Amino acid sequence: MHVPTLIARKREGEELSSAEIKGLVDGYLSGDVADYQMSAFAMAVFFKGMTAMETAALTRAMMDSGDVFAHPPGTAVVDKHSTGGIGDKVSLILAPLVACAGCRVPMVSGRGLGITGGTLDKLESIPGFRVGVSMAEAAGILADLGVVMMGQTERFCPADKKLYALRDVTGTVPSIALITASIMSKKMAESLEKLVLDVKYGSGAFMKNRADAETLAEGMIAVGKEMGVEVHAMLNEMSEPTGCTVGNALEVIEALECLDGGGPPDLRKVVLDLSETIAGVSRSELERMLDDGTARRKFDALVVRQGGKAEDLGRLAEIHRAPVIHEVVSGKGGAVTGVDAGKIGQASLELGAGRSKAGDAVDFAVGFDQLAKCGARVSPGYVIARVHARSREAAERAEAAVLDAVLIG
Ligand code: URA
Repeated sequence: MHVPTLIARKREGEELSSAEIKGLVDGYLSGDVADYQMSAFAMAVFFKGMTAMETAALTRAMMDSGDVFAHPPGTAVVDKHSTGGIGDKVSLILAPLVACAGCRVPMVSGRGLGITGGTLDKLESIPGFRVGVSMAEAAGILADLGVVMMGQTERFCPADKKLYALRDVTGTVPSIALITASIMSKKMAESLEKLVLDVKYGSGAFMKNRADAETLAEGMIAVGKEMGVEVHAMLNEMSEPTGCTVGNALEVIEALECLDGGGPPDLRKVVLDLSETIAGVSRSELERMLDDGTARRKFDALVVRQGGKAEDLGRLAEIHRAPVIHEVVSGKGGAVTGVDAGKIGQASLELGAGRSKAGDAVDFAVGFDQLAKCGARVSPGYVIARVHARSREAAERAEAAVLDAVLIG
């Protein structure tokens, strides 16, 4: 296999064979294919796309790069995955909630990608929380709690772990083929029975319009079908952030509010919409488990089992208090007609909540809370967001971004 030739063929839009794609993925993992070659290949895929055959081959090669879960017979093994959005803390609530309904949820998530935040980074804002659990440990946690929340490891989807980090910093995230293979390789390796996909579109998503989101959803459903998994897709607009917070610890705090039966209505709605599809119990039963503390107790148990302390959950705002907390106020009165999720996501990234190079540490404390929601009525001087920043200068840049993103008519 001559790697420069494969890259050039993809650049010219040729279809590669399954064996060539597998060779590339295996070579990347072993180190025979360099980061710069894989970056060039990912950029060629971004521009030229992949056929359905190539996308399935890439998914399979990535799934086969590590071990797969084995579950005892008779258990309903389900999961959800989002294609990525701003303020999207749904997984933190849905995973324990659906486990309370009697399902097993082996949730393998990712880190921040592009302007979107990642479930793993959010979980790591809980001191001690270990997302890098081994397969054996994950199986034990699943058996005891019905839920585990973890990342790709050296043994589980290692090809996605490596390629995901590379895509994040090389401008190669928003490719239908690469997103499909990244998500479906992890989900297929979880050995699921049922999967619900939260396919986002809009300014804060990788798919900017509904038509592209539909294409992405159809591709992922096709891969799932070929591999024998029941896949449901829900298309959700991501033109304003989900909930009122964006940033790692700030989003965990809001997720805890939802697990305690409160939180913003849009967040609770999307959690329930997605959970209902896979949990096998009624919506009112899911609502009851949010309202009476059942789901919250499950989350606390999971945190403790994966290395955190339940008592830290109530102190996250204190633990991750940013040096500058600045209120952004509206200059005029009226109704909020738009909150551009893409601009808020970019501003959050620039505050330090995401990465600009592979391996960068993320800042758990920074981001936004009290973000205004579309439809809210505001008067002059009303707080439309609070910026959590490391410095006054960073807060001022973020304030300008909020004033640009929040439209008041
Ligand atoms: N989530 C993933 O796991 N991978 C992507 O490429 C996008 C969202």
